[in-house]
Amino acid sequence: MFNEIISFIREIYRTDKPIALHEPRFLGNEKKYVLDTIDSTFVSSVGTYVTKFEDMIKEYTGCKHAIATSNGTTALHLALLLAGVKREHEVITQPLTFVATCNAISYCGATPVFVDVDKETLGLSPVKLREFLSNNCKVENGQCVNKVTGKTVRACVPMHTFGHSARIEEIRECCDEYNVILVEDAAESIGSKYRSKHTGRFGKLGILSFNGNKTITCGGGGMIMTDDQDLAKLGKHVSTTAKVPHKWDFVHDMLGYNYRLPNINAALACAQMEQLDLFIKNKRELASAYEKFFGKLGVTFIKEPKDVYSNYWLNGIILKDKKERDDFLKFSNDQGVMTRPIWTLMSKLNMYKGCVKGDLSNSEWLEDRVVNIPSSVVVKK
Ligand SMILES: *Cc1c(COP(=O)(O)O)cnc(C)c1O
Repeated sequence: MFNEIISFIREIYRTDKPIALHEPRFLGNEKKYVLDTIDSTFVSSVGTYVTKFEDMIKEYTGCKHAIATSNGTTALHLALLLAGVKREHEVITQPLTFVATCNAISYCGATPVFVDVDKETLGLSPVKLREFLSNNCKVENGQCVNKVTGKTVRACVPMHTFGHSARIEEIRECCDEYNVILVEDAAESIGSKYRSKHTGRFGKLGILSFNGNKTITCGGGGMIMTDDQDLAKLGKHVSTTAKVPHKWDFVHDMLGYNYRLPNINAALACAQMEQLDLFIKNKRELASAYEKFFGKLGVTFIKEPKDVYSNYWLNGIILKDKKERDDFLKFSNDQGVMTRPIWTLMSKLNMYKGCVKGDLSNSEWLEDRVVNIPSSVVVKK
């Protein structure tokens, strides 16, 4: 069976050379726009491409305001600060995520609280979220208080795993009921929609990532999306060292960060945005070919859940058990076809193993079985 999988993947990518899990494609105006920033000398945090990129994201996702940052992690850190996450707060998230989600919570001095995911979406489970909130929390003076720890649960950060949206409307309803601010980690899901609305637009704030391994990239980059004008204004200010605009004076009126995306990266981003729809079409065709193939093989392929239009950033399969997973990981990587397991659960990492958690049985089940397989845009030769 493993052999068949490897041959199928090699057939798709038409190569005998090593196949990466996800590599960028620069097929459009990338060189032209980047050269343009060099010729203009505006390669750094001031320049026309940064605002152009923000406008393209607004247009594409429908969000009212967008703030470009140096990467997805800084976008999430800033989004949580804007949501008012402070030291001594708790922030609910899923244990099945990339470490940046939890690190951004920690940068605010807050602690993650782990609630399980759904097996169908790989995203935060609205049912388990409600269960956790109703068993452990109460709303007191407008704040959601964890009765066990006495801490305020300020925000909730669901993550749209591999580009598949979580059941985000149900999550939002639950957050609203308990006065918990919803911040979406949509780092992996640019172009993905839940009931026709772009992911990252359901909460007060949402973020995207443009790291080298994502659906489109600008080397490193991130974006904060919000419909709240005041938060957007504050976000832009804080991301640019909180400098008060003035021709020569250096006055900073609050603690700021150097998180603005450089113009040279934004140039790359604009060129990639022009190709996004093509890339997603290509990725969805790839996913559909995988789905057919694995269906015949009797292996579970991770499909977009109900009500979701997915960008299929990373394709994944679910193997029988941990042993089969490990055997396949070894076999495929030895053959030069890169595959990898899903992340080690955050609740098991040194920094986070002491955190409050609910029942995590779905996350644990998935952790043992999910394998990602090559998912780059297929270039027709
Ligand atoms: C990629 C990613 C981020 C942000 O990553 P950066 O490399 O900082 O852009 C955050 N959360 C998740 C779930 C991610 O996959």
